[in-house]
Amino acid sequence: MPRQVTVRVWVIIAVAVVAVVVMSAASEVRYLRYMGELEPPTQYNHPYDGPVDERVMPVAELRALCGSVGASGPFVACAWVSDRVCHIVLPKDEQAPVSTYRRHEIAHCNGWPANHPRG
Ligand SMILES: [Zn+2]
Repeated sequence: MPRQVTVRVWVIIAVAVVAVVVMSAASEVRYLRYMGELEPPTQYNHPYDGPVDERVMPVAELRALCGSVGASGPFVACAWVSDRVCHIVLPKDEQAPVSTYRRHEIAHCNGWPANHPRG
């Protein structure tokens, strides 16, 4: 390859590498922000004082089940309390670990309002 073409190829590779690094950093930031938003405020972030009925399933199945108990909007998990039992339905194929969704949904059983006020 002529020298000019070689330099151009290296410039293209360098730009591509920088673009990939910037985009993955941006998606990492989005992921960390999402994880932070899932984390409940301290006063709701504790075990439920009573029995917990937990179901873990693919998000597609979950949406049907949660919808049938009245969940609406772009949810990927749901929780409700019935006869002092905390029912939580958690996705096994979403971005965050199941344990993160579990803390989040148990916080709803502990009284964290559905519109997620902080603190
Ligand atoms: Zn929530």
